[in-house]
Amino acid sequence: SVDRLPEMQEARLRLPVLAEEQVIMEAVRENSFVVLCGETGSGKTTQVPQFLYEAGYASGTGIIGVTEPRRVAAVSMSHRVAKEMNLVVSYQIRYEGNVTCDTKIKFMTDGVLLKEIQKDFLLQRYSVIIIDEAHERSVYTDILIGLLSRIVPLRNKKGLPMKLIVMSATLRVEDFTENRKLFPTPPPVIKVEARQFPVSVHFNKRTPLEDYTGEAEVHSVCRRLRRAFPFKRGNTASDSSDEMKKFKKAKHKRTVSLPRIDLDNYSALPVDEGDEDRLAGIDDEEGSDLELGDDAADTEEKADPSLPLYVLPLYSLLAPEQQAKVFRPPPHGARLCVVATNVAETSLTIPGIKYVVDCGRVKKRFYDRVTGVSSFKVSWTSQASANQRAGRAGRTEPGHCYRLYSSAVFGDFSLFSEAEITRRPVEDLVLQMKDLNIDKVVNFPFPTTPSAEALVAAEQLLVSLGALEEPVKEMERARLSCPISPLGRAMASFPVSPRYAKMLALGKQQDCLPYVIAVVAAMTVREIFEDLDRPAGSEDESSKLAQRRARLAQMRRLWAGQGASLLLGDLMVLLGAVGACEFAGCTLKFCEENGLRYKAMLEIRRLRGQLTNAVNSVCPEVGVFVDCKMAPPTESQVVCLRQIVLAGLGDHLARRVQQEELLDSKWRNGYKTPLLDEPVYIHPSSALFKTLPQFVVYQEVLETTKMYMRGVSAVEPEWVP
Ligand code: ADP
Ligand code: MG
Repeated sequence: SVDRLPEMQEARLRLPVLAEEQVIMEAVRENSFVVLCGETGSGKTTQVPQFLYEAGYASGTGIIGVTEPRRVAAVSMSHRVAKEMNLVVSYQIRYEGNVTCDTKIKFMTDGVLLKEIQKDFLLQRYSVIIIDEAHERSVYTDILIGLLSRIVPLRNKKGLPMKLIVMSATLRVEDFTENRKLFPTPPPVIKVEARQFPVSVHFNKRTPLEDYTGEAEVHSVCRRLRRAFPFKRGNTASDSSDEMKKFKKAKHKRTVSLPRIDLDNYSALPVDEGDEDRLAGIDDEEGSDLELGDDAADTEEKADPSLPLYVLPLYSLLAPEQQAKVFRPPPHGARLCVVATNVAETSLTIPGIKYVVDCGRVKKRFYDRVTGVSSFKVSWTSQASANQRAGRAGRTEPGHCYRLYSSAVFGDFSLFSEAEITRRPVEDLVLQMKDLNIDKVVNFPFPTTPSAEALVAAEQLLVSLGALEEPVKEMERARLSCPISPLGRAMASFPVSPRYAKMLALGKQQDCLPYVIAVVAAMTVREIFEDLDRPAGSEDESSKLAQRRARLAQMRRLWAGQGASLLLGDLMVLLGAVGACEFAGCTLKFCEENGLRYKAMLEIRRLRGQLTNAVNSVCPEVGVFVDCKMAPPTESQVVCLRQIVLAGLGDHLARRVQQEELLDSKWRNGYKTPLLDEPVYIHPSSALFKTLPQFVVYQEVLETTKMYMRGVSAVEPEWVP
């Protein structure tokens, strides 16, 4: 039984999902598969694991497993449930966890569970799996549902019954329930009626063109809000000195420019009542004088300390201690204002939100299916997402949502966001599936099947990396059924995508493994360098940023080494940065002083440990270990590393365009790749920007102002196949 604190019990009873406990548990008893829909905040994530626990699903040998698409959610939900139950609840994410043999409830990212399926296809440790946030349609979520649709019946046949509960914040679950390939008998769908307070939705009459969100924008909005609505802290405040400094700075700088939102320009009309953008044209003329006045006020707005705001940023790369702040009550006398990316859309419920300001946009990574070029694009979100955002305002009392776009624009949004699996390369998934002996990936019961092109491209890449056997006949290639090779098996056991797994598999040569592990770890962690190009809020900040930029540039040159090592290019910079940071004990101080993101460096450290273990378990004879005082690679090791990198990135080869080929000035210093008609370039921040080698391989092409190669390393012409 569970020994909850009285206040926790009281809070639980207010959650809508509590009223459905019997219905849910009965459905789970009688069915192997159950789908549970309920608005965000209705209590699915925190309560359903508790229902299962109390019904005895963790009392035998099996435990309760919950998957989340986001690491933030896996960690914070495990803490929340632990607190509610007065019981240890564990989590496991890519790099860390606190699972023990006594664990009864385990939150994990979906990627972690997929890896576990590779070790034990029947998932015998679990009696129930909950797939949470299924509406997000993350790739791993989709694959897990497909796999579990097969695993659960197998378990039942073996007399080791298992349950699958799919939880979604929206009612759009037909991809799961109406998909006969997935579930021959449609699973029951239980809907939780959330006690949602009404949220008045206010549309802007006009839709401004400006762009928005990401980490940099979140910070700049926070900064501007803090200046406009500053508050003085009492001596009871106990926050980080970093925050304190920001507030002190805010007091000095009294004038800011924050665009003013005139609430009279908002209308609460339902979507279908006319084109607000057009109507706004008329209003414009009538109120033009007034508007000019407002514009003038915009640029030199007085700070208003009578409306103190406690402004906090929230995004997924933010350090966990910083993230946790949004759950605490704001200091006395101030209103909490959270500036968030879409992590706050469904995965985290911040208590007591009354107002939501929705810019209507989303920043997503787009991949070109043919060329693999990726770019981050800001686009309109879907209607379903916009409604989720609005819903956050009505959790504890009636609220308001201000949409910074018109109802006409809203009407043009797509109804739902696309499943991620249709938008990105799938070679990692194909390899994982082949390793699970699913040879004909096309026949897999995907909730949404990836495009045929993407599957073919994935299979071809895997064949070229040697992870799959060469197809005997052209026919077989067309049917997508090349079997996995022994090398492919080894590659599949590494928790990185196939190109990097190939590098690890080759790392034994010339004692290069420790270097390959460090480079791969650094290449697969997002953004290891701090973003110092962000716009500064003040002159003071601007000069500090310039100083730090100069320091980082200097360090990059140092890390790139000299002579032979220079040719390993940006990957040598990564290796140097990781080596130097570890040498210094991987401290926050070292990272801050040298332009490295502390969180990224910690991730790299953990991943190095994890990859080292993975390599040792595949080939115990190499006995590799993590050396925090790793000496730089020798000249011949650098050559070997460059060849290993080429083996993994062989399809990312680029050739410098020769002088005599310059038909158009855009090709100056440009590189030609097999798939692109347009030139790609070496970025000015790259270690090889001045060298411009004849051949290079790159990690990826990211389109920003130009198509830039990232993670560039030089290739000797005689190595080119
Ligand atoms: P759902 O999964 O249906 O979106 P949750 O189970 O995540 O709902 O949340 C239920 C309620 O629990 C929320 O409305 C919120 O008030 C509360 N809650 C969740 N996490 C926390 C937390 N870390 N701190 C305080 N309250 C929380
Ligand atoms: Mg939830």
